[in-house]
Amino acid sequence: MEGVAWAAHRFLMHGPLWRLHASHHTSSRRRLEGNDLFGAAFALLAFGLFWLGARPGWDVIWWTAAGMGAYGLLYAVVHDGMVHRRFPLPVRPARGYLRRLAQAHHLHHRTHARDGAVSFGFLMPRDIPTLKRRLRERQAGRA
Ligand SMILES: [Zn+2]
Ligand SMILES: [Zn+2]
Repeated sequence: MEGVAWAAHRFLMHGPLWRLHASHHTSSRRRLEGNDLFGAAFALLAFGLFWLGARPGWDVIWWTAAGMGAYGLLYAVVHDGMVHRRFPLPVRPARGYLRRLAQAHHLHHRTHARDGAVSFGFLMPRDIPTLKRRLRERQAGRA
């Protein structure tokens, strides 16, 4: 799921669907933003796959939907709750993996344009010094 999410973020959201995703890079703490439509679309897709996968012998589809649902739930809690604080969550990442995840995602948000961003994945963040160096290189390349 992380690979699919990375590809969708890199090539769709920062590609032809940028108009919807831009709201997430430019707005601050709005209750709802255009980017939320992606979550709704993925949830609808997961429900559809659950419905299809309920047929005998379609277990692979059902488990695909279960994977999408689990990833979506985790993404909503960690991304919207822990990283962006859109709802109260008693977790503040002070160190270790969760801190690296939050830092990597905030580095993604340093870019407010479609091009030049780093860190399109979410749950498997690269090390922070590498991301900072890449961001500097990309920003220098645009200047
Ligand atoms: Zn983005
Ligand atoms: Zn974000």
